[in-house]
Amino acid sequence: MQTTMIPAAPARLQPRGWQQHWREAIRDPRELLSLLGLDGLAGVSDAAAAQFPLRVPRGFAARMRPGDPNDPLLRQVLPLDAELRLVPGFSLDAVGDAAARAGHGVIHKYAGRALLVATGSCAVHCRYCFRRHFPYAEQTAAAAGWRAALDTLRGDDSLQEVILSGGDPLSLATSKLAELTGALSAIPHVRRLRIHTRLPVVLPERVDDVLLAWLSALPWPVVVVLHANHANEFDAQVDAAIAALRTCGATLLNQAVLLRGVNDTVDAQAALHERGFAAGVLPYYLHQLDRVAGAAHFEVPDHEALALHAALRTRLPGYLLPRLVREVAGDGSKRPL
Ligand code: SF4
Repeated sequence: MQTTMIPAAPARLQPRGWQQHWREAIRDPRELLSLLGLDGLAGVSDAAAAQFPLRVPRGFAARMRPGDPNDPLLRQVLPLDAELRLVPGFSLDAVGDAAARAGHGVIHKYAGRALLVATGSCAVHCRYCFRRHFPYAEQTAAAAGWRAALDTLRGDDSLQEVILSGGDPLSLATSKLAELTGALSAIPHVRRLRIHTRLPVVLPERVDDVLLAWLSALPWPVVVVLHANHANEFDAQVDAAIAALRTCGATLLNQAVLLRGVNDTVDAQAALHERGFAAGVLPYYLHQLDRVAGAAHFEVPDHEALALHAALRTRLPGYLLPRLVREVAGDGSKRPL
């Protein structure tokens, strides 16, 4: 019997969700180097990668310059032998997070604000990260339905602002974030929400319709503090993600870390803040490096940092000049240099 073949409907092209981009991140230093034509680069360390694994979204790697071992984006993520040096003054808890713990997953350092260590996950692993040794397994606020963290916040009516941090809070599913903000909205003394995230920069696909709907519906003014260290981290997709975040009414700021070999020149700093502004982001802080073990090779001495900042002041309008600060454990605010 002859049958009539019904042609298969053409598969609908579905845009790939952000989770898929997340899963496809590069995790092998050799693969990253091979993609950049830098096979066999000296100084790359398996031992450093074993301590703090490499993780780079493919879209971020695509913004690196092939063939350039000094690319400023590559330097932020590549595990090096230099990380294994023990340097006096560099410790596992550089900014006193352990002493400032106010409850499970809650860090309370400054008046009126508390920080939730929402998760330990990040889309990218920054080698200079001040929380690279943080005991996330024991201290993430999202565990157990946020209950312990919410109890801490509810019990302190001096807290007006909740800061979602991590890790990167936007690495959680939006439904998980909505679970938190739904509960927070029942705490009358919470009046502002701040989100510290690098995801819109390193994996802009994260800014999807579901995230935007959640952000738009939040009952408080929202500040999104991005983290970009170099102008090359911006591209058209990052611009689009930032523009979309702005449509939700969020205030967009950027904090950067002053990093040797990445952004330690006046030209690099000026380009970063001008490029951020073009995307719709104002500079907030330029942090002196937190002295975390494994990151000493990124440090820029204070006298150089101050000279760079003074030169930047003569180059940029005041609204594009970030505040040069250091976090000192036990202080009641960031300390201006
Ligand atoms: S994104 Fe932020 S928390 Fe995550 S590794 Fe980088 S600096 Fe650390």
